[in-house]
Order: sequence, then structure tokens, then C-alpha cells
Amino acid sequence: MKTNNIVVKKFGGTSVGSIERIENLANRLVKDIAAGQKPVVVVSAMSGETNRLIALGEQIDPDYRGPAYDMLIASGEQVSVSLLAIALQKRGVKAQPLLAYQLGIRTDSVHAKARIKEIDGSTLIRFVEAGVVPVVAGFQGIDDEDNITTLGRGGSDTTAVALSAAISKYSKVCEIFTDVPAVFTADPRLIPKAREIPKISYDEMMEMAALGSKVLHIRCVEIAAKYGIRIHLRSSFEDREGTWIVPEGEAMEQELVSAVTHDANTAVFKLFPVPPGAGFLSELFQVLAARGVVVDIITQSESNEGQRLAFSVTKEDVPLTRQVLKETVKTGAEVLLIENMAKISVVGVGMRNHPGVAARFFKILAQSDIPIHIVTTSEIKISAVIDQKHLAQAANSLHTEFNLDKVE
Ligand code: ADP
Ligand code: ASP
Ligand code: MG
Repeated sequence: MKTNNIVVKKFGGTSVGSIERIENLANRLVKDIAAGQKPVVVVSAMSGETNRLIALGEQIDPDYRGPAYDMLIASGEQVSVSLLAIALQKRGVKAQPLLAYQLGIRTDSVHAKARIKEIDGSTLIRFVEAGVVPVVAGFQGIDDEDNITTLGRGGSDTTAVALSAAISKYSKVCEIFTDVPAVFTADPRLIPKAREIPKISYDEMMEMAALGSKVLHIRCVEIAAKYGIRIHLRSSFEDREGTWIVPEGEAMEQELVSAVTHDANTAVFKLFPVPPGAGFLSELFQVLAARGVVVDIITQSESNEGQRLAFSVTKEDVPLTRQVLKETVKTGAEVLLIENMAKISVVGVGMRNHPGVAARFFKILAQSDIPIHIVTTSEIKISAVIDQKHLAQAANSLHTEFNLDKVE
């Protein structure tokens, strides 16, 4: 069988961050192939490249989003697939660099935040059957008008899992190689005491991604859950097991809180007075959703002079949100943008059956005199928006409070 042992393997920006790293990656793939694997490779742009491209565009117009933006920021992946394919060819491996249009990675037309609608897996399988390693550009798609689209920052993970779903008849595992060896109980860069999590449920991983943990793109976890793809997140640099993202029943640890997650760059928009009429809020949030802006926390309060609205978005969504507010607020209401905020959250399926987590969360922030600007809860998470300067302290104290610290 030519189609056994197919594995989709995604390598992030650091894994292809220099020519030396690309050559090392090619060596690693040669070993995998010698061991009988048939890799379908997905790569991101070289590290720093997407930021560089975005900064170029923003020098001209910081608020522009549209086909030209996506074409610009998708170009980094074109470079890395080409370089990796050259490195493989040099080692005698047949490799084909592939952009989204060649694989029919069809998306909607929401630029900078497109969602994959369909992928025809048969082209990939034909390459594998012919003994060719497909090297696919992550992060990009094409819409119905054949414009290049992009899937949102960190979207190469989603390309990889969507390809796995498209060929799930042949393979149900997607390996995501990155610059940390596992998913941790918190970002190990912020919390050195964070522990590795061997297995985590799709639901918890989705909450972590939604709340700002950029270790995996949220859509990739949604697609994995829908198609039953098991994600193995592991190190690009060490050859060992990392974290498995699997259905809830299989995730072993049922801790009260599984992880502390943060988004260091949160912005809060305040609007006063909210334009009158029942339809305003529904229109505002509908338009934001249609443009792909994830509004996480919303509060509304009454005062004698009118209603106040506050909501938080991640920094990346500030230009789009500003644009939408310009279009929808037709009264003279004051729109205030507060940057330098951070969002801190605790996540865990164990919270479903155990009350008291909120009380401990607020106690810890109060003990450290950390003011909370806005707060939200769901069945398996509690989040608060706080000043950026308090983030490290809040995150470390919560991590200790919920017994997540690594035992030395
Ligand atoms: P890649 O370029 O490989 O896609 P990313 O930078 O997107 O890598 O994601 C990996 C980073 O995610 C890590 O370097 C780490 O700082 C960050 N991260 C945030 N939260 C976590 C977490 N809970 N566990 C592991 N890494 C995390
Ligand atoms: N290169 C893109 C980004 O930096 C996609 C990715 O890395 O997953 O967001
Ligand atoms: Mg990433």
C-alpha cells in the first residue's frame, strides 16, 4: 500500500527560521522517510517574516484589510515551502512545493480571518502515491474569486489539521512541531514553573486558544474535534513525545483547573452613550463577527446619562474593530480605546462540577491589589482584563493557587 503511514507534519516559523534550520528539518524528514513514513509537510513563514510583511503594509495604511493585505502577508510561506523543497531535492527526495490554489484550499472571503470551506484531498494523495513529498504553504487559502486569503495569525496549524481532515481516510494524526516541547499549564515564557500536560481535551485546548494561548490556532482544534483528528504537539528540536489533544474521555487528568492562559495584548473599547434603539448592539456584534473579530468580554451598564458599553478584543483585531465602529456608530457617541491591557484566565473541565473556583480567582487578585477592569465566566473558564503591568504577578499567583506549579 502506497498510502499507509501518511502523516501530516506542520513546522512553525522557528523550525524554518534560517537556512541552517531548513537544512536540519530536511535531514529530519529524510530519516522519517527512511523509517517508512510518508510525510505531508506544512510550513509557516520563516520566524519574524509575517510580522515584517505586516509592518511594511502598515507603514502605508495601518487600517487597510482586503485582498492586497492577504496577498502581502501570505508571501512568507511561499519562500519557506520553496526553500524546504530545494533542501529535500538536494538530498535526493522528490518534493513538490504547493500553494493553496494548487490544492484547492477554498475559504470564505473574510480577509485576514478566512475560514476553510473545503479541501480536495485527492491531489495530495496523488503526490504521495507517486512518491513525492508535498510541501504545503500554511496560513493561506483562495476564495471563490481566486483571491488569496489568510486564516488569521497562527493559521498554519489550521492548514495542517484541515489537510489531515481532508485525507482522514488515510491518517488520523496530525503532528505539530514547534519551539516548545509540549502544551504547558501556562506559557512557559511567562511562568517558568509551568508543567507539561501529556494529554488535554479538545474543549480545554479550544478555550486556551480562544483566551490567547498562541501555542495552537483555535480553528485547528475545532476542526480536529469535528473530524476526530488527534493532534500531537511536540518539539521541533527534540525527538520525544509532547502533548496529545484528544476527546475529553481520553484526557487523563481531570484537574479543577488545567491551565492559566493569558493574552498580553488586549485592548478595551468603550462606547458612551450607546446609540439608542434595540438594534444597535445586535448590528455591532453581528458586523464584528462577520469580519472575524472575536469579542471575548462585553459589559454594559446603565447611568443617568445613558448606557455604557465596554468590550475587549485582542490587539490584532484593533484596526478592524475601529473600522466597524466607524461604520456602525452614526451618533456622536464617544469611542475610547484603552490599550496596554492583558487578559488572564483559568481553564479546566473540572470546573463544571466544582464551585468555588471564581471565589479563589478573585481572592488571589485582591490579595495582590490587582484591579479588574472586566470579567467573564463560562462553564470551564474565568477571565479578567487587568493592566498589563500586573500580568506576570497575577499569572504566577494563580498558577500556584491552583496547584499547577512543577514539583522540583
Ligand atoms: P509556531 O511558530 O511553531 O507556530 P508559536 O509561537 O505560534 O509557534 O507557538 C508556540 C509558542 O506558544 C511558545 O513559544 C510559547 O511561548 C507559546 N505558548 C503560549 N501558551 C503556551 C502553553 N500553554 N504551552 C506551551 N506554549 C505556550
Ligand atoms: N506565518 C503566519 C503567522 O505568523 C502563520 C503561522 O505562523 O502559523 O501568523
Ligand atoms: Mg503558531
